[in-house]
Amino acid sequence: MKRIHVGLAALCLSASAFAAEPFDDKFRQLEELLPSANQYRTASGAPGHAYWQQRADYTIRTTLDEANRALSGSGQVTYHNNSPDTLHYLWLQLDQNIYKPNSDARMTLTAPSREAWGRARSDEEGMKFEGLRGILAGRDFDGGFKIAAVKTAGGAPLKYTVNQTMMRIDLQQPLKPGEKFTFSIDWSYKINEQKVLGGRSGYEYFAEDKNALFEIAQWFPRMAAYYDVYGWQHKQFLGSGEFTLEFGDYDVQITVPADHIVASTGELQNPNEVLTATQRERLAKARTSKTPVVIVTQAEAEQAEKSVAKGTKTWHFKAKNVRDFAWASSRKFIWDAQGYKKDGTNVMAMSYYPKEGNPLWEKYSTAAIVHTIEQYNKYSFDYPYPTAISVNGPVGGMEYPMISFNGPRPVKDKKTGEITYTKRAKYGLIGVVIHEVGHNYYPMIINSDERQWTWMDEGLNTFVQSLAQEAWEENYPTGRGDPRFIVDYMRSKNQVPIMTNSESLLQFGNNAYAKPAAALNVLRETVLGRELFDYAFREYARRWKFKRPTPADFFRTMEDASGTDLDWFWRGWFYTTDAVDVSIDGITEYGVSTKNPEVEKAWKKAQHDGEPVSIIDQRNKGMVRKVDEQPHLKDFYNEHDDFTVTNADRNKFAEQTADLEQWEKDLLAQGKHLYLVDFSNLGGLVTPLVLQIELKSGKKYIERIPAEVWRYSPKKITKVIVTDEPLVSLVQDPNWETADIDQSNNAWPRKITPSRLELFKSRPAENMMKDFNTPLKQKDAKKE
Ligand SMILES: [Zn+2]
Repeated sequence: MKRIHVGLAALCLSASAFAAEPFDDKFRQLEELLPSANQYRTASGAPGHAYWQQRADYTIRTTLDEANRALSGSGQVTYHNNSPDTLHYLWLQLDQNIYKPNSDARMTLTAPSREAWGRARSDEEGMKFEGLRGILAGRDFDGGFKIAAVKTAGGAPLKYTVNQTMMRIDLQQPLKPGEKFTFSIDWSYKINEQKVLGGRSGYEYFAEDKNALFEIAQWFPRMAAYYDVYGWQHKQFLGSGEFTLEFGDYDVQITVPADHIVASTGELQNPNEVLTATQRERLAKARTSKTPVVIVTQAEAEQAEKSVAKGTKTWHFKAKNVRDFAWASSRKFIWDAQGYKKDGTNVMAMSYYPKEGNPLWEKYSTAAIVHTIEQYNKYSFDYPYPTAISVNGPVGGMEYPMISFNGPRPVKDKKTGEITYTKRAKYGLIGVVIHEVGHNYYPMIINSDERQWTWMDEGLNTFVQSLAQEAWEENYPTGRGDPRFIVDYMRSKNQVPIMTNSESLLQFGNNAYAKPAAALNVLRETVLGRELFDYAFREYARRWKFKRPTPADFFRTMEDASGTDLDWFWRGWFYTTDAVDVSIDGITEYGVSTKNPEVEKAWKKAQHDGEPVSIIDQRNKGMVRKVDEQPHLKDFYNEHDDFTVTNADRNKFAEQTADLEQWEKDLLAQGKHLYLVDFSNLGGLVTPLVLQIELKSGKKYIERIPAEVWRYSPKKITKVIVTDEPLVSLVQDPNWETADIDQSNNAWPRKITPSRLELFKSRPAENMMKDFNTPLKQKDAKKE
């Protein structure tokens, strides 16, 4: 009866609480947001027993027309339908079509803001010469694929329809589950000048020696992905959402001017035809060298720049189980290489760069490739491909299987010819090589849907990049990874959740690179600890190697392998724009009363004596009082105050404690200090508490409290802290590891925030009369 009564009362209470404000359950499970598990993807985050993926094998012949900056090709695609579905058509990606003057990518461009366009507040915000040149040149450039033929293996024409950056091929017969279909396409396109038109590939022109360097990607019609979650992934390419692709084998023959050096995805099949005996010897030496061996020296490259070969050479490459294929070609290339072999990895790390990249590139590029593979292997799996390449050219940083394009270079003084490089260029180069080579793991092998989710490749990759940079040198200058770097962004206004489509992201770099990287560092250091995290993160990589994971597969695997419910973490960090902001609102001390009047009355007296003396008493000090003039007026009460212990008190204590068990008596005498600490969660994102407790003796220690402390009350909690000595200070997140956006409310007692006020001189008013009378400078005296 009683139980029922209590239950009813509780029910009424909670009902009225709901009416005021619905309970915000930060720990509600994610099932309502995640797709249901099925035979293709399990509830534990692993590929299911009926997991399938399509496959596309390519045989391509292509020719680079250097003089006309154009490429033509002919490719045969064998598409394997491993799905349980019958297909009536196939979709291919025609990424070059974003260079058509009327492409969606161009038509949907908007100005960043009216202010930035018309009245920029800084150089960075303003429109650059290059920006306006790009807009105008894009209107005139005759870019995009010219499709010459689409045919069956037998040569019969196939009906096809181009929809902007996508092409549909209608099949003569439906393609049934388990069947394959071979067809061929002939195409050509004009190559974009990357420094003018931008892009993830293109050529760079060097006016000094009149040569070009070609970085070639998105260069052939590629199969769009078809998979269990989305069907065909044929969302238009607008420029941000990268490429969702199928694995396959490639056999590619590239015809270029005879004096070019070609860097490419895959393994070279005909070194005897395209390399000199010396180059082949140097390559063999590089295989076991501990430092990079130069295959084409700078002197040889500079010699090659001086003339143009008449004939052509065809470089033949094959690549197994890759989702894409890219290459680069120039007579300007210096080339170095170093083998790396450990456990399941046996790779040739190679760099290709023009002389303009030195001395930076010969020192750091290949070294950074080897470092990347060493480090990424620790956190994911052994690098499985035979080569890993970094090419210096116009593209700032872009990844393809086995090959990446990286931009940073030294600067050459125009007058003196002196070559120097900035700190930013040095660490930018090491960082971008780590990042782009790291993309081999995410998403080239862990083949996530880039067109949909940028964070799944960029975020995970930036996270591992941060670990690799930490292993390069102490205090590596970086701005991403450590949670403290994400605080400004977390405070900013125009945000969308990480779980937003690639093309709709605001603050792209912060949203998809820096925030997930910071979140994973919080998960590793603060929530799970390194051991649990690293095991689960590796498990994700192992499960989804050469497969296509979705966000749910990542979230579920991290929970499944670490044995931790992290739904609150994904919900807060990935599905909202909440920030961590914990405030320590107040602390109350509770010493346990001993009940002993000798102790307790002395304690009360000490409290009383600790109170400030009344202003009246202060000013009355020294006043001659009646009882001092006439002491006979004093009695018992002038000698005893309220804190005198009486025999009655002692008897009462004896009576009270007579019935206590020994453990109860011990508890009264243990002398622990109890504190009630009020915390509020102002940012909305729940976080573990990391409490630095400082005691009276100066001793400091940290108590770590899991985020579940917020589960009953996500906005405000009261936590009991027990100490052996009086507490003198408490700091939440003393190491800045939780990305708390306001440290000023994290300490008790509060700390003063130090800052500096900069004073500026007032500017003199414009003096047109003085300017008018200023003598005109002579033309030849202008350059100082
Ligand atoms: Zn990236």
